[in-house]
Parts: sequence; C-alpha cells; structure tokens
Amino acid sequence: MSLEFAERLRRIPVYPAAETYEFGGDLVKLASNETPWAPHPAVLEAIERELRTLNRYPDPDKATLRRRLAERLETTPARIAVGNGSCELLLAAADALLEPGAEIVYAWPSFSMYPHLAAQSGARAIEVPLDEEGRHDLGAMAREVTAATRIVLVCNPNNPTATALSSEEIDAFVSELPRHVCVILDEAYIEFSTLQDPDDSLPMAERHPNVVLLRTFSKVYGLCGLRVGYGLGSEDFRAAVDRVRQPFSVNALAQAAAVEALEHQDEVVRRVERVATERLHVEEAFEERGLDSTDSQANFSWVSLGGRDEAAVMRGLGERGVIVRGGAALGAEGHLRVTYGTRAENDRFLAALDEVLPKVPANA
Ligand SMILES: *Cc1c(COP(=O)(O)O)cnc(C)c1O
Repeated sequence: MSLEFAERLRRIPVYPAAETYEFGGDLVKLASNETPWAPHPAVLEAIERELRTLNRYPDPDKATLRRRLAERLETTPARIAVGNGSCELLLAAADALLEPGAEIVYAWPSFSMYPHLAAQSGARAIEVPLDEEGRHDLGAMAREVTAATRIVLVCNPNNPTATALSSEEIDAFVSELPRHVCVILDEAYIEFSTLQDPDDSLPMAERHPNVVLLRTFSKVYGLCGLRVGYGLGSEDFRAAVDRVRQPFSVNALAQAAAVEALEHQDEVVRRVERVATERLHVEEAFEERGLDSTDSQANFSWVSLGGRDEAAVMRGLGERGVIVRGGAALGAEGHLRVTYGTRAENDRFLAALDEVLPKVPANA
C-alpha cells in the first residue's frame, strides 16, 4: 500500500537544483550565486572554537547575533528574526501569514522559492510579469493588491534577472500599499547594488511597520553552507515567525560564524569591489559577442541567448565542466544566469561559450 500524503504536497514545486554533468576535470560552479572565496580566516577560527560545545543545543534566542545585528542596524534585537538561511524566514512568513483565501503578490521571473509560499499554505499566488528590462513593475504589482493580500515580495536586486530598483522607488511603492500587507524586501544581493548603499533601505523599516528587510550571510559573506539569514521587521513579525518554527533551527556554528563575519566589514567592501570588477569583465565580454544582458546590480548576469536552444548551450557548457543556470528552470527559457566566479573561472566560462555558441544556430 502506498503512503497517503497531504493534499498540499502535490502543489509544492520541487526546487530546481543545478544540474551536474559527467565531467572528469574541475567543475566551474557558476550556477548558485555563491561567492568563489573561502570564508574569512577569523570566521573559520570562530567556527573551530565553537566545535567543542556541540554537545549543547544552540541558543534558541540567537541572543548574541541578534544583539550585534541590532547594533549594526541601529535597532532593537526584538525586531530581528534570525533563520536557517533567509529561505527559512520566507517559509515561516508564509506559515504565519498565509492560508487558503489569502493572496501573495510577487514579480515573475523571480526567486524560485517564492512559488513555495503559496503552495505550502494554500494561498493564491499572483505573479506579475517583470518589465521589458527585467525589472519589477511596481505599478502593476500595486494594482494586484486587494483586501485578501497578506504578503508582497520585492526581490531587490532581483534573482534571476540581476536588476535593481532604488530605495526611493520602493519606498514610494510601499507608501501606497495598505498597512495590513506585509511587504518583504528580499535583499539577498543588496550589498552588490551600485544604486544604493545597503543602509539606505533601513529607514523604510522604520517608517513602515509592515516592511521586512530580508538579508543573508549566504552571498557576500560566503557562508551559504552554514545556513543563516535574518529579517528586520516589526516585533510582531519576529514573534510570529519564531512561533511557527522549531526553536533550534539556527545551529551553533552558524551563529558563531555570523557574529564574527559582521566584524569584518572591510572584507565585505573588498568582495563587493572584486565582484564589480568581474561584473564589468563578463558584461563587456557579452557585449563584444553581441549577447544582450540586463543591467546587473548583483553577483551574476542574466543573458539572452538570442533565440538559441538553451538546452543545447547548457549541455555544451556542461560538457566543458562549466555549470550555469538555464532560464527554463527559472521562468524564462532562452537565457542563462551565470554567477561571477574568480577571473580564471569567468574566463573558462567565456572560452567554453565561444566554443559552444557557433555550434548552436541563433533564432532557431
Ligand atoms: C540566495 C538567495 C537568498 C538566500 O537564501 P539563504 O536561505 O539565506 O541561503 C534569498 N533570496 C534570494 C532572492 C536569493 O537569491
């Protein structure tokens, strides 16, 4: 006899993990928007110090980390929720805010986790197409907000299209929305945006009690293997997402590493500069090859294949050990999302592309 699963299980999409290919040599992993650099040595030392106390449960309050974050963000720890990656906070927000009959509004294509929020809760998902430049169409999104709307997601910069909006544009958008709507600004890549300083969005969380800023240690801090992210919102929001989760979801190593990582803002600045240099290099290479890419404000590019068969390009790159994300899995077939790696990795990607593209006819 087969197991009887919950009805909602059928609705939940399977997260599109990056494909790996049969390849003998070193893989160039440019599919998951990770940073190519190892964690800061002081962060590794903090993790090693913590190893000896792994017989104890982690602090369910994440008190030290929340206090340090509050100091940096000039707020109180009561307003800071820490999660097992910011993805856990997204799913917890869905648990706490959504139910059948409720609605959630977000742009599409956007982060591949977002469809899970409606699927797991039975709420209705309203996906608003991006504009021609791959940017959020905030006007169209505002028009979809109704009395049933509980969450509006704004991914800034947007994954997978890499585009960003200024904090002024977002602030004006939020000001027009009813106060019962929780606006989650997913700022996983905000450090990489040249349109604003990461601190520029903090006043929004002060002015609008319905706003949640969602950030992560996975991207610029290079700690995605540990799973830790945070949200800055109202005390009510923090209490709600804490209630729907198990108390020990953020492990002790992750908490210790995040506390230490915050002490090294000079390293953040250095990484942002290195990413900006690689962004310029890769975008120039696309331009030289006549490939259209969006205006990236993140650590990855979104490039159109000009009508070429995406699967064929992906296969060709994979056979050469270069793993990127294809647009089909992300909501827009005919594109590649490619993370910036080290210079050597980016050049290997470009060399592979030069071998593969001539073999795949354009506008097929
Ligand atoms: C990578 C990413 C995150 C971060 O997820 P974690 O769970 O913190 O690793 C969140 N939002 C978007 C849009 C992302 O691309």
